[in-house]
Amino acid sequence: MINDIAPHRFSNIWKNDIIPQPDDYVVIFKDSDVLVKCAGEGDSFTLPCVFDIDNKITLKYLFMVDDKAYFTSLEIPENVGEALKYVSVRAYRQAEHLIGFPIITASQLHRWYVGNRFCGKCASPMTDSKTERALVCSKCGRTIYPTISPAVTVAVIDNDERILLAKSAVGTFKKFALVAGYTEIGESFEETVTREVAEEVGLKVKNIRYYKSQPWGVSSTEMVGFFAELDGSDEVTLQREELSEARWFTPEEIEEPDDISLTFEMIRMFKEGRVKEWKKDF
Ligand SMILES: [Zn+2]
Repeated sequence: MINDIAPHRFSNIWKNDIIPQPDDYVVIFKDSDVLVKCAGEGDSFTLPCVFDIDNKITLKYLFMVDDKAYFTSLEIPENVGEALKYVSVRAYRQAEHLIGFPIITASQLHRWYVGNRFCGKCASPMTDSKTERALVCSKCGRTIYPTISPAVTVAVIDNDERILLAKSAVGTFKKFALVAGYTEIGESFEETVTREVAEEVGLKVKNIRYYKSQPWGVSSTEMVGFFAELDGSDEVTLQREELSEARWFTPEEIEEPDDISLTFEMIRMFKEGRVKEWKKDF
């Protein structure tokens, strides 16, 4: 998964007094693009360092990976050198995890900072907390924390032989994936699983088992992965507003999944016949 960067270590511990060093990294966003540094031939790139960036912009500390700090800015540098260019944030899919994971995680914090310049209660400017990753209203003291929206991804399996895969009708991602959806108010994750599967494909599930979670900065989400077994009829009824297609797949019919998302790790487990073995531990 994109957040698996071992032996490198991600640290989100808040630091109030960190001073950017020339070889720390900077993740700058402009609309849905990110500023990168071309790395030799082809489309490969790295992230720019502090010394690559116009020193007139204010940098905001994000997190560390190993001993390097990552910063962003709510400003856009006026001049970027020839070695720097903007590419779609979606390029995280082609980058090494050590570059892709900081990009999507920085994008989540950047969206949060940009969307919360003013207090939602009294409209006064928000300021950085001195003690934690939070924004504090300069007038009424209201404190807010980074937005993380939980969502489930669920592998519905029929008799250890078939898995249900679905294609989204919205957005840019057009591969077959798992049924997924946001947790709504007043709901447990298991209830989200039952509701999403019923709404999107009209099926009932049983034996819902938690597998793993994944931070997914692209949509400010914490993805929570579950395996579940089909309960009753296998007839799929598609929710057309959400999905363009959904059907059952045998392991042989599944295309080679990538190694970026929790969803594809779970699909790979089924394809390679490892779900049965994992279930034995229960
Ligand atoms: Zn306020």
